Amino acid sequence: MAPEAHVLGLLCLRCHARFEEPRMFAGCPRCRAQGVAVNLTVEYDLVPLAGATPETFGTAARGLWRFRHLLPARPAHPISLGEGATPLVPLERLGRRLGLPRLYAKDESQNPTWSYKDRLCAMAVTHAVETGARVITISSTGNHGASTAAYAARAGLPCVIFTLASVPETMKTLMQAYGAAVVACPTSESRWDLMREGVERFGWYPTSGFVTPPSGSNPWGVEGYKTIAYEVAEDLGWTAPDVVVVPSAYSDGLYGIWKGWTELRTLGLVKHAPRMIAAEPFGPLADALERGLQAPEPVEAPAPSVAFSIASRYGTWQGLAALRESGGAGVRLTDEGVLEAQRALAREEGLYVEPSSAASLTAVMQLAGRGALDAEQTIVLILTSGGLKDPGASRAWLPPVPAADGDFDRLLTVLREAYGLALDR
Ligand SMILES: [Zn+2]
Repeated sequence: MAPEAHVLGLLCLRCHARFEEPRMFAGCPRCRAQGVAVNLTVEYDLVPLAGATPETFGTAARGLWRFRHLLPARPAHPISLGEGATPLVPLERLGRRLGLPRLYAKDESQNPTWSYKDRLCAMAVTHAVETGARVITISSTGNHGASTAAYAARAGLPCVIFTLASVPETMKTLMQAYGAAVVACPTSESRWDLMREGVERFGWYPTSGFVTPPSGSNPWGVEGYKTIAYEVAEDLGWTAPDVVVVPSAYSDGLYGIWKGWTELRTLGLVKHAPRMIAAEPFGPLADALERGLQAPEPVEAPAPSVAFSIASRYGTWQGLAALRESGGAGVRLTDEGVLEAQRALAREEGLYVEPSSAASLTAVMQLAGRGALDAEQTIVLILTSGGLKDPGASRAWLPPVPAADGDFDRLLTVLREAYGLALDR
């Protein structure tokens, strides 16, 4: 049997208290009593994996479950839809334009529900089944909810989703299509209050957080994001990039990916870990770093963001920890910058992603413009979700589709006028 990391329990990222109870989803109770929201993380003894090589992971399993040696749940039959094993795509044309020849995108829109949330939900719902959960629940503006609904369906468990009335129809359709009971609440905080009652009174199993201020999602689920680091390392010949950019709200992905790199470094499978960059519309992590805060504080949200999937006034301790430990930074975004990046990825590289995903390129464009990146660096953008989740947002930069009436000369005129294509020579 292959060696496996031994799960010790849950560990607080701040006070380092250890907990044996596995069903703790509201962060560290001791830190919360002191007024600080901090997530727990799964703690391992990695000694059984000392001497691990790339071959340790084998090729018998595909995607996320190939790396089960470093995951907290390893059942013979995980709740899986084939998540993971997404491509690392070189962005040669964009990289040339930005003066960054080693620019890559990890295209997470190729997961089963078209977002990287599938890595979290595969882990969390597998853990839910292992621990006897009877109902799955989540608060979500779309991607996380759609993924949770799909994995709950896969597990044969009912799912209750708290969303906002303002989320796009596509998101509501997806969540309901997978069979979830979806309800809309007026504010983020009000949905967390309702969800918390379900968790505390009836033992509903949460895949997202539900406390104010937020600490992050289910720590067992966050472990799934580590596999993004493992896959990128493998695709780069078991080396780490210099910079990894992650669209971030509550920073489950940012922290999970960072944790994956630290494990690979501890095991000697990569020599160094990358700097982590958070792409965030309102910048709570950037604010905390700039002001030297111990914990992030809520920031102003001047207007709704086109990157609604990551538009949070709140940052989390886990996100700030990933940035501080890696020497990283938070980058604030404008709608114009996000839509420019979405258009560039689609037009120059053939990657149509949600505005929130394109935010990682927006951050790189800003950093490159400030001279904060150099041509020698290997940079990986995490593209978290596909563009069809919110196609309405792209109409802002697309012309109406013009009519063609059957006359070829008039067609040439239409192509020139609507699209700037001069094809009549
Ligand atoms: Zn604590």
